[in-house]
Amino acid sequence: PDTPILVSACLAGLHCRYNGEVAPFEPVVDLVRQGLAVPFCPEIFGGLPTPRRPCEILGERVIDADGADRTAEFLRGADEGLKLARLLGCREAVLKARSPSCGSGEVYDGTFTATRVPGDGCFARLLKAHGITVRTEEDLAG
Ligand code: SF4
Repeated sequence: PDTPILVSACLAGLHCRYNGEVAPFEPVVDLVRQGLAVPFCPEIFGGLPTPRRPCEILGERVIDADGADRTAEFLRGADEGLKLARLLGCREAVLKARSPSCGSGEVYDGTFTATRVPGDGCFARLLKAHGITVRTEEDLAG
């Protein structure tokens, strides 16, 4: 590609996952290493700490496992990511599957019971609405 791919920072091995663990995904690490991809974490840019309580999408809102409404932070982080994508001219993103921010095509249902439902995370949804193609690391692996 002639413009960089935006990737979930956690897939690049950066320390931003909600549970505080590091989980690099080698094909994405390689893209970053080659200068073909730029890592970004919408939840960190939305002002949330690492580690943080797990969040899920419930209707139009994002709630954490204690029931606190985190919608504003998620939307703010997604907006910042769109800003970065525009700065870089990104046309593609590879984002972490099923995250309430980064998930694409499938997310959890807001009951914190590991139940999957069709849908997009806040960041993935915003990028798609602006014409950016979003895939997950699972699509990349497949
Ligand atoms: Fe990774 Fe996205 Fe979650 Fe940040 S918000 S830790 S980039 S899945």
